[in-house]
Amino acid sequence: MLNRIKKVIESFEKFKIDAVLIKNLENIRYLSGFTGSSAMLLITKGKNFLLTDFRYIEQAKHESSGFDIIKVDDYYDALLTLVKKFNIKKLGFESAFVSYEQYEKIKKTIKDIVLIPTKEIVEQFRMIKDDSEIEIIKQAVSIADKSWNEIIKRIEAGMTEVELAIELEFIMRKFGAESKAFDIIVASGFRGALPHGVASNKIIEHGDMVTIDFGAKYKGYNSDMTRNFIIGKPTKKQLAIYEIVLEAQLAGIDKAKPGVYAFEVDKACRDIIKRYGYSDYFGHGTGHGVGLSVHEAPRVSQKEKSTVLEPGMIITIEPGIYLPDWGGVRIEDMILITSSGCEVLTKAKKNLVQI
Ligand code: ZN
Ligand code: ZN
Repeated sequence: MLNRIKKVIESFEKFKIDAVLIKNLENIRYLSGFTGSSAMLLITKGKNFLLTDFRYIEQAKHESSGFDIIKVDDYYDALLTLVKKFNIKKLGFESAFVSYEQYEKIKKTIKDIVLIPTKEIVEQFRMIKDDSEIEIIKQAVSIADKSWNEIIKRIEAGMTEVELAIELEFIMRKFGAESKAFDIIVASGFRGALPHGVASNKIIEHGDMVTIDFGAKYKGYNSDMTRNFIIGKPTKKQLAIYEIVLEAQLAGIDKAKPGVYAFEVDKACRDIIKRYGYSDYFGHGTGHGVGLSVHEAPRVSQKEKSTVLEPGMIITIEPGIYLPDWGGVRIEDMILITSSGCEVLTKAKKNLVQI
């Protein structure tokens, strides 16, 4: 944690600030270890402060040993005291996480200070995972993998998408997940055309090809994977679409290594889908970083022209084809960029499971 704070302080110069206020809970957890739901950090070149209310004082003392813990009644008044005491002139804040209202409040409470928006002051470092993070994420991935292998034994025609999602969540919790990483997507039959079709009351019927996109949260970190199954035997078209998506997904994995631009990985997948004439039906980016957030930097998309993959990045590769009124397929793995290439973290088999 100290190393992470040190890096943030080293970037003060770039942002032209002499302290930074951190409000985003994931960034707070990343820098301090604090897991509660209400706090602020003030990082200065000297001391670091964790501000929280009565409910979390004991927890903060326990979790965030490198910080001076300050009990607050009003966050802004407490901030004012610290800013004055440490003579802070230029205070950075996370531009993505301070609302206009909060900004006005800080400005009104703390006069004679320059407020400077900082974009991704912590996220720039979160993008590269350290060994301890990689270890935890591997656990989160493994829970999802095991849960997939278990759920496919329990699926049957006639259950609803919601029933399947609840069962899957239950299995993940049993395997040690602290929660599901996000609302589980179960998109069966024609609903497979919805890339983010959160489980509905639709009954899973014979002949339905079904996309399940899910993940486990473990020690604050997420996993994210997508697999597909079919009730009965696939038609020629179902199998063909599946094979194209799989070919595209493998091409993306093959391309992912250090020094490669993120958009090149997207292109590797997209080119395959294009070759078969389905490029209009792959309307989202190929992947994203995963960590304390399910979706975080780097994005793996056509637009990501400047991001170069580096060892320690953990991203998803998840191309798909979605045909309106027919259905869809997406296959998603998490991979770790290593010094020589990449390691596929998701181990579950990638065949179209037949129930
Ligand atoms: Zn996913
Ligand atoms: Zn994803």
